[in-house]
Amino acid sequence: MNTKIPYKIYLNETEMPTAWYNLRADMKNKPAPLLNPGTHQPMTAQELSGVFCEELVKQELDNDTAFFEIPEEIRNFYKMYRPSPLVRAYCLEEKLQTPAKIYYKFEGNNTNGSHKLNSAIAQAYYAKKQGLKGVTTETGAGQWGTALSMACSYFDLDCKVFMVKCSYEQKPFRREVMRTYGASVTPSPSTTTQVGRKILAEHPNTTGSLGCAISEAVEVAVTSEGYRYVLGSVLNQVLLHQSVIGLETKTALDKYGIKPDIIIGCAGGGSNLGGLIAPFMGQKLRGEADYRIIAVEPASCPSFTRGKYAYDFCDTGMVCPLAKMYTLGSDFIPSANHAGGLRYHGMSSILSQLYDDGLMEATSVKQTDVFAAAEQFARVEGILPAPESSHAIRVAIDEALKCKETGEEKTIVFGLTGTGYFDMVAYEKFHEGQMDDYIPTDEELAQYAARLPKID
Ligand SMILES: *Cc1c(COP(=O)(O)O)cnc(C)c1O
Repeated sequence: MNTKIPYKIYLNETEMPTAWYNLRADMKNKPAPLLNPGTHQPMTAQELSGVFCEELVKQELDNDTAFFEIPEEIRNFYKMYRPSPLVRAYCLEEKLQTPAKIYYKFEGNNTNGSHKLNSAIAQAYYAKKQGLKGVTTETGAGQWGTALSMACSYFDLDCKVFMVKCSYEQKPFRREVMRTYGASVTPSPSTTTQVGRKILAEHPNTTGSLGCAISEAVEVAVTSEGYRYVLGSVLNQVLLHQSVIGLETKTALDKYGIKPDIIIGCAGGGSNLGGLIAPFMGQKLRGEADYRIIAVEPASCPSFTRGKYAYDFCDTGMVCPLAKMYTLGSDFIPSANHAGGLRYHGMSSILSQLYDDGLMEATSVKQTDVFAAAEQFARVEGILPAPESSHAIRVAIDEALKCKETGEEKTIVFGLTGTGYFDMVAYEKFHEGQMDDYIPTDEELAQYAARLPKID
């Protein structure tokens, strides 16, 4: 109508957020607390501080403070690769011949190639501030491990990464990125931990899972002086840090008076989606605005759409606190044919509560449809998307095509969480027609659900 919206809406440094937004402050039904796996009582700050950094424990447990100031050191680091652009997908709209207006927030403009650096740098900062020697973590596909190793090298912290064995073997380049930034990388399960040895004794040929790697990383953190464990998704603190995505998106949209109708994000553990939607969901919770919010997950790992809302373990070794979440069961491992990421069995407690309260929707998509969308997107918008991000692309395209049928000019915003340069084996499978769409049966899922811990 009046001002033409640019292809990319950039913000100035001065328009970047100076505080993270804590969505929990506006939630009437708060997310359920983490429970001690032994006593089933809510985890206290003291108990959690054996595993996590003190400042992060405060953030984890605080359901009331709406804004947390972003320390200046973190803001300065953010300035190296943020603000990230909000892109108007004119070329995609044209290709689809849709009246819908499509925007995406692109988080892949850093060496790590994903949004994970937003929380990695915060967690490394607090570990350093506490005077720790280092941190331990797990990584699946490798994005979180790379993000954390970048953040740790910046603050001169040691970084020990347990990498799911099949990824360690299939993604040697990710491993070398981590080593370039000074991290040590161990394939999991390994013989370096008690829990790893136990898992190997029971399943000698296992190729590992995120749940296993978490158990190993936690064990090393709690048994090594001056170390704590950090996690790249799922936790409340991680969603808090990722709110920087949503805050920037909202500022950029507000500059041009744009109000989205639909906000879409992929959901693995829920951190990018939780961050993207935070300020919009806040408005929704306060009754100031309404949006359709859609979480997109793989059909092969469908925690929202086919999981149970229950307390479950976050890891396979059952050493971590219990979290109430939509879950498939802590021993669920998606089919080996699943190449598209987002493999975690559970979901952020915050998003789980919002979903249970009917404040957001969820849908699942098949991986061949996801890669088809990824390719379609790459060919018109240029960016080679991560398979994870492409779940959101799939649903954004589908919603835009619906608008074409109805003639509605809806505004769609989706999170483009990262680039897919290290996922070319998965793209190759797709191109060779070797990718299939294994979807677990109800019977399979019921077996895992039957093993959920009984909490009353
Ligand atoms: C890790 C990752 C995700 C999924 O994690 P969430 O915590 O659900 O955001 C999505 N996209 C990319 C590129 C990732 O690296």
